[in-house]
Amino acid sequence: MYVDGQWADSATGEWLDSTDPYSGEVWARIPAGTAQDAGRAVDAAQAAMTTGPWATFTASQRGGCLRAVADLIIANADRLADSEVRDNGKLLTEVQGQIAAVAQCWHYYAGLADKVQGATIPTEKANAFAFTTREPVGVVAALTAWNSPLWFATVKAAPALAAGCSVVVKPSEFASASTLELARLVDEAGLPAGVFNVVTGLGATAGTALVEHSDVAKIAFTGSDVTGAAIYRSAATTMKRVSLELGGKSPTIVFDDADLDLAAVGVMSGIFGAAGQMCAAGSRLLVHTAVKDELLAKLLELAADLRMGDPRDPATNVGPISTPPQFEKVLAYLDVARADGARCVLGGARATGPGLGAGQFVEPTIFTDVRNDMRIAREEVFGPILSVIEFKDEQEAVTLANDNPYGLVAGVWTTDIGRSLRMSKALRVGTVWVNTYRTYSYMVPFGGTKQSGLGREHGIEAIDEYLETRSVVISTDDAPPANPFVMR
Ligand code: NAD
Repeated sequence: MYVDGQWADSATGEWLDSTDPYSGEVWARIPAGTAQDAGRAVDAAQAAMTTGPWATFTASQRGGCLRAVADLIIANADRLADSEVRDNGKLLTEVQGQIAAVAQCWHYYAGLADKVQGATIPTEKANAFAFTTREPVGVVAALTAWNSPLWFATVKAAPALAAGCSVVVKPSEFASASTLELARLVDEAGLPAGVFNVVTGLGATAGTALVEHSDVAKIAFTGSDVTGAAIYRSAATTMKRVSLELGGKSPTIVFDDADLDLAAVGVMSGIFGAAGQMCAAGSRLLVHTAVKDELLAKLLELAADLRMGDPRDPATNVGPISTPPQFEKVLAYLDVARADGARCVLGGARATGPGLGAGQFVEPTIFTDVRNDMRIAREEVFGPILSVIEFKDEQEAVTLANDNPYGLVAGVWTTDIGRSLRMSKALRVGTVWVNTYRTYSYMVPFGGTKQSGLGREHGIEAIDEYLETRSVVISTDDAPPANPFVMR
């Protein structure tokens, strides 16, 4: 672990194995951090923000630190990508693209650091001068999921550090290596000790200790809605700021006026990309009845060419399921869908055969005859399972799309610009992608409505999650008030 600018083992000396999801082999050991380790990291982060040099850095100096990290990420992209793929089995080609964006994101917030400013405020009082400053909120605990660890750590730590906060990252116990590699680069970039810390370990121990620590001012979390709700409840006791990036059951809505070739590719990548292990997976296909058969035929044709296999092979399209519990969960949902009456028209089973490593693969799967109230249409699977639901008109599409506990993203496929704007307004989600899918940008705000979470990451407004406004009011009078008990 990386605590107070030093490499550290866990206080108990215990380790967790990290298993390559493709080969099934243990490839790394990660310190099993304890509450004591988490406490040491928070103490270091608190000291960095109060008595350490970080407290005296100008915003431009902080920006310089972030820029140095960005440049080192570019120089070490291959090593970072390799460690992430070994940990979570995501396609190497996809992770390489993501790491290029990770470096750009550090540069983006480096540039934003010295553009944070307060305001001068006119008041109704003749004798008061008022202004605001934007102050760092304090120590940030960043808790991240296994499917894109470097990205999640970056979109939290970069704006937090730009704002002047210090950070303790707790990556998923299933995928900690790339975040530790990032710490190595932060160290090389010369950030002062304690400003950026990484504590590894289980959620129930290291994670809980961070969430409950009274010196943590803000929790930035990416993970499941169940954990997110527990963190939200716990944070209330010490009134911590919280942002939660949680799950989804996102609709991709294909109208009868859509370009079906484009839509088919978008729908396919939206659910079979990353083997469906994406918060923004387009797991509900809402399709106009008039084009359902044609779209389905195109999807089946595209899916026939999908190649499962080694995530490091550039020819692979669908990699393994990342973790054993996730693998069991995805397989269980195949049974749930069938039991509820859905009809499987593609896949529907564990994938077997040569080239599949240790075999933690699920076939790309499509269920038709799905009703929006079935579990397979309401619950997040986090796997390559698409549920197809028909609609007859725009209003029904909106009703079906919004009738779900989640509200992360939606895809809309239409050639009618008016319809795309009406849909963008009517859908209760954080992001609407029109005639595209998975088009993330660290410059465009991202986050959920309803049970998909709270707050926004990415973009200029993400830095607000790590800042508090301080108001300063100065009297311009040089004589005491005539009556000190009457507010002026
Ligand atoms: P998870 O909730 O199990 O774990 C997330 C992190 O929280 C891990 O670091 C874990 O160790 C920690 N944790 C677990 N229990 C904790 C506790 N009680 N207190 C403090 N920390 C705790 O999620 P996961 O299985 O790692 O990730 C999959 C989930 O993440 C899916 O639901 C997915 O939709 C969601 N996700 C959301 C986004 C988004 O941006 N909205 C992106 C990716 C993944």
